[in-house]
Amino acid sequence: MELLGEILLKNIRMEEMNWLDIGEAVQKGFTTVVIGIGSTEQHGPHLPTHTDTIIADFLANRIALKLGNALQAQTIRIGCSDHHLSFPGTISLKNETLKAIIYDYVRSLSKHSFKTIIFIPTHGGNFKPTEEAIEESQSKYPELKIIGYTDAWEFVRIEWQIATEFGINNEDAGAHAGEVETSQILAIAKNQVRKERFKSGYVGPLGEDTSKIVFEKGISALSEIGVIGDPTHANIKRGRIYLEKLIDSLVEDIKELLLE
Ligand SMILES: [Zn+2]
Repeated sequence: MELLGEILLKNIRMEEMNWLDIGEAVQKGFTTVVIGIGSTEQHGPHLPTHTDTIIADFLANRIALKLGNALQAQTIRIGCSDHHLSFPGTISLKNETLKAIIYDYVRSLSKHSFKTIIFIPTHGGNFKPTEEAIEESQSKYPELKIIGYTDAWEFVRIEWQIATEFGINNEDAGAHAGEVETSQILAIAKNQVRKERFKSGYVGPLGEDTSKIVFEKGISALSEIGVIGDPTHANIKRGRIYLEKLIDSLVEDIKELLLE
């Protein structure tokens, strides 16, 4: 929370604000916008399809609050999930569609005196198109600073490192609906988690090879239930710690990128 003139700016979600307050906030120095990029895709039999969107929205909100001079624009709720399309409920954008949406966010926000735009993708399939869209937008809007956290593996590595501190190996921590992601959703939206369905998915080694299988053949080639990792020991307290540490680490990286 930041002081905005006399008013305590409790809500930085632009979709819940009106244009007058948004304009005034920008005038008073809230010239950064943070946008989460999620997905609508299967997350195993136990997590909701908007799992990545819930996490993206949460991270974007807390990052904006921590930066102190930032508002949050509406989270992009659908991402590039073709590799999950064999499961009911998955809705996927083509890479070009997501890139066009990101570009249009920048085009729109460029008209409102914002100076910095930060994208936070949380879903593997979104990292590359986000990186490309940022590059293209940046060259068209040199007066803006457009950045994103676009290293998918670094994202996973941060989570695995925390998991290791709790004695959870990388295979169980997983990369999709495993211990890490399930703990995070328990921490944010526990009523949307079906604990009685916790079941281990693929728990073999993970790396570039398995990524290739997932993106080329679909995730079901690796796990029939669409889970990479083991949610069995997911835990709400650890979920909060994953989120807190991830936010701190992202804020640190963003601050460095802003200095460049
Ligand atoms: Zn996910």
